[in-house]
Amino acid sequence: MAQNSEKQAPEIVEVPFDTDQVVCDGGVGPLGHPQVWYTFDGKTEISCHYCGRKFVKT
Ligand SMILES: [Zn+2]
Repeated sequence: MAQNSEKQAPEIVEVPFDTDQVVCDGGVGPLGHPQVWYTFDGKTEISCHYCGRKFVKT
């Protein structure tokens, strides 16, 4: 696991496998951005275009 000292590597968010959509706002701080929805659309992972956060189905 990465040390929690710097926010360089994209955060990975695990979601239930039957999830169709996720919403990302980047959280608080410099990575925050307007709320945006992503649809998995058959894929198993999505990367947020704003903050790089990665949503992965588990
Ligand atoms: Zn984001």
